[in-house]
Amino acid sequence: MPFSKLGLSAKVLAAVKAAGYSAPTPIQEQAIPHVLARRDVLGIAQTGTGKTAAFTLPMLTILEHGRARARMPRTLILEPTRELAAQVQESFEKYGAGQKLNVALLIGGVSFDDQDAKLIRGVDVLIATPGRLLDHFERGRLLLTGVELLVIDESDRMLDMGFIPDIERICKLVPFTRQTLFFSATMPPEITRLTETFLHNPVRVEVSRAATTADNITQTLVPSGGAPEEKRSTLRRLIRGADNFKNAIIFCNRKRDVQVVYRSLEKHGFSVGALHGDMDQRARMAALDSFRNDEVQLLVCSDVAARGLDIPDVSHIINYDAPHHSEDYVHRIGRTGRAGKTGVALTIVTRADQRSIAEIEKLIARKIDWQEGAEMPPEDEGEAPARERRGARGGRHRGEPSGDRPRLDRHPERGAESRRHHAERPAQERVAAEKERSANSRRRHAERSVQEPVAAQPERAPAPGPAPARFADPSQRRGAARPRRDDEPVIGLGDHVPSFLLRPVPKRVRHAHDRERIEAEE
Ligand code: AMP
Repeated sequence: MPFSKLGLSAKVLAAVKAAGYSAPTPIQEQAIPHVLARRDVLGIAQTGTGKTAAFTLPMLTILEHGRARARMPRTLILEPTRELAAQVQESFEKYGAGQKLNVALLIGGVSFDDQDAKLIRGVDVLIATPGRLLDHFERGRLLLTGVELLVIDESDRMLDMGFIPDIERICKLVPFTRQTLFFSATMPPEITRLTETFLHNPVRVEVSRAATTADNITQTLVPSGGAPEEKRSTLRRLIRGADNFKNAIIFCNRKRDVQVVYRSLEKHGFSVGALHGDMDQRARMAALDSFRNDEVQLLVCSDVAARGLDIPDVSHIINYDAPHHSEDYVHRIGRTGRAGKTGVALTIVTRADQRSIAEIEKLIARKIDWQEGAEMPPEDEGEAPARERRGARGGRHRGEPSGDRPRLDRHPERGAESRRHHAERPAQERVAAEKERSANSRRRHAERSVQEPVAAQPERAPAPGPAPARFADPSQRRGAARPRRDDEPVIGLGDHVPSFLLRPVPKRVRHAHDRERIEAEE
């Protein structure tokens, strides 16, 4: 179907023509008529599918009639990150060039006063990140009772970043009768609940199965040793040897690695910029602009900073680290192969990434090819001691799939299995096992207190299965091998560590900065 049949205004059609689009993308074709008919829309689509224009173009048509009043925006678009918000603003500038609309951006890192001045003038389109929007609202600078249309974009990303409570609050502040357009790449249960609460009889538009990766992206796994210098050398080799290379976004799992990789590439003479959450807004925008304008060829990023960015013509995505969360893989590689172009996604894989790769392949429902028939790299010197150390402390055993740290939620089915097993065991047996477990915990704690300060401690092979019999008697435990004298200093709580102190505490992510902090700690 051509654009002219979708019901868009003449001005908007002229802007589409000027943008050089010959036909609407599937999400545009399916969503635009419903938006113009003022229906709520639930759009399940990834970035790169043309979804921004799917809501921008009909909004521009709708906004041709009517005027904005001071401090009362007519429409509101919520975005999870400043960069995405800025990108949507650019879309309004591009497609709304022929219209006199007031578009304002409320994002962190920019002066409140400038934003306030725009609000006073009256705003047709307000694009905001949830936190900054609520800050303005709480200062009494903003009234949300005039909002006729609300767009919630990248909702699953909002969820990842802990913004759902803010979104719920904002949904209650805008009129009940507003039109809502809701976009998400995936539909986890929390997002489904949100749509059931805040959308009124929505039209569901789905352009591809959740969490699939585009067929126009060639995906390859590249084996590497696990030591940082080996990974950096693999990275340089990949960049130098890549076919049809124009530019690349390089993803690291941790902010500090973004810095390290950036400096290393710079030192080796590459044209490179960096983007991570610790940079201020100006520096982030400058880095992004230099990459967009081809002033730098490589951009090293963390996931949070890069989610959803629309950078046309990225030829290569390189995962310096295999992502811990498989959904991040889909989002990362979605930065290439946009708008029907082809792209290449290369993932550097060390022995420690075995489990992450298996989870990614499960999510995207396909195997990713290894570079030139290579396979999972053999265990190397750099990684073995770390893994053995973990084993010696009662962590994973040799031969088990490894990751950077144990994840409680990684194998729900395994958790269910152990719960079932627990329920089926006779009470007596459970009590005995519980006793043995706490004896083992105390032993591990004592071992830690003794071993950790000693750098060159010989590694012990982990003991699979239940605790060896030699530890059954507490007086023979390590750290309690000698009878304790009353005048000896006690390390920490000594042997009397309550078991609740030894339980792992899951980290909760409430806000974006929490996630950034957790990333930094990792
Ligand atoms: P988005 O999914 O909104 O991030 O859009 C991805 C890219 O597709 C952007 O660079 C748009 O400029 C481009 N685009 C949007 N609509 C079309 C279209 N109908 N034809 C070709 N490219 C498009």
